[in-house]
Amino acid sequence: MSGFLSSSDLVNNSDRGESPGQAQLTQSNGSVCEGASNQPTQCDQTVPSGQPAQPIAEGSPDVSARFAQPIAEGAPGIPGQPSFDPRNLRTGLGMDVHAFAPGRPLIIGGVRVPHYQGLDGHSDADVLAHAVMDALLSAARAGDIGKLFPPSDPAFKNADSIKLLECVSEKVRELGFEILDVDSVIAAQEPKLSPHRDAMRERMAEAMGISVENVGVKATTTERLGYEGREEGITAYATCLLWRCSIE
Ligand SMILES: [Zn+2]
Repeated sequence: MSGFLSSSDLVNNSDRGESPGQAQLTQSNGSVCEGASNQPTQCDQTVPSGQPAQPIAEGSPDVSARFAQPIAEGAPGIPGQPSFDPRNLRTGLGMDVHAFAPGRPLIIGGVRVPHYQGLDGHSDADVLAHAVMDALLSAARAGDIGKLFPPSDPAFKNADSIKLLECVSEKVRELGFEILDVDSVIAAQEPKLSPHRDAMRERMAEAMGISVENVGVKATTTERLGYEGREEGITAYATCLLWRCSIE
């Protein structure tokens, strides 16, 4: 691979249109649905967007009332809007692939993993950090890392991807989003990555400025199937949840 990013980095994450129309929410209630007949049940009901799916039971804390309080001028959030509006949440999905190459360090999630070979790339080829960055940028509808850090730019040769993750997190905040949660999966046959999982969580949480509790990392093999199974490369997938809490 000659560029800073793999071809998968260059996948066009075109901005998704948003349709503020009514959401058709289906209620789910296991006890009601079990053994359902042809008769309509609560599961068939639809509720318009912005209304609670189910009434709050007698005696339960009414958290929706607290969230419905409008945000005061100067407080975090969008002034005048409810302190929590689920329509201001955004999810993002990122994926990255890098091929193995001899004589390269193996860096995943900002952690140097002992192995006889590493991943190829113009930067440090941190496949997990790249997937997380693309998830964040996708959720903020801000393009992808290929756009932000062009592979043609020599400034990013051997770049530390954890530093790039810091930049992306800063950009996402500048656009008015808070990073609430990130989860990820790495598909690799070898080496065994689970002993390094917590170190990866800590490094990426620090780069994003969030709690380590809000960063998930899992590792799996592909049972020797595919390019990961043949130890030709590693894939990483990441999702994130952002909250749009201010207007940039
Ligand atoms: Zn990459």
